[in-house]
Amino acid sequence: MREQQVENKNFIIQIKGLKIGKYEYDFPVDGAFFREFENTQILDASLDVKIVLERGGGWMNLVSSIKGTVTVECDRCLDDLNLPVDFSANLAVKFAKSDEDPQSDEFLVVDPSDGELDLSQFIYDYVCVNLPLQKVHEEGECNPQMIAKLSGMDAENNIGQESGNETNSPFGALGELLKNMK
Ligand SMILES: [Zn+2]
Repeated sequence: MREQQVENKNFIIQIKGLKIGKYEYDFPVDGAFFREFENTQILDASLDVKIVLERGGGWMNLVSSIKGTVTVECDRCLDDLNLPVDFSANLAVKFAKSDEDPQSDEFLVVDPSDGELDLSQFIYDYVCVNLPLQKVHEEGECNPQMIAKLSGMDAENNIGQESGNETNSPFGALGELLKNMK
């Protein structure tokens, strides 16, 4: 069986006339891809998505390998954080009229008269569900200037909130302390 190499930036697989056999697709995924989905979490991406598609009689199986990095905002210092991505996902497709065969969790039902299969939603979902919940730099790798700035902003906010209340100002507290020492 000959494997065909197809470069497709639109994440669309032509299934019309696709003969029984094995095919390989290569989709580069960059930051623009995630911006199309209006994702504000993923700032940039450099991913290589390889899909091996096996077409059978009434079915298809797609194995996706997604490798590369995505750039997100660090939860702690708000600086860019590059997260490595390396995982595989499987998508089983059954050809059937969707009103005859309802969608299931195990496979995607595709109408055989549909000419193409758009994989962008799947690739997007695969990447998003595989991101770690806590996105922070390794200990000590956060931007020190940003950390200092953020803690400075906290201090300013506290003073701002407490101004107008003399007893809670740092000088008020000092005054109280001096009074108690007498
Ligand atoms: Zn950080």
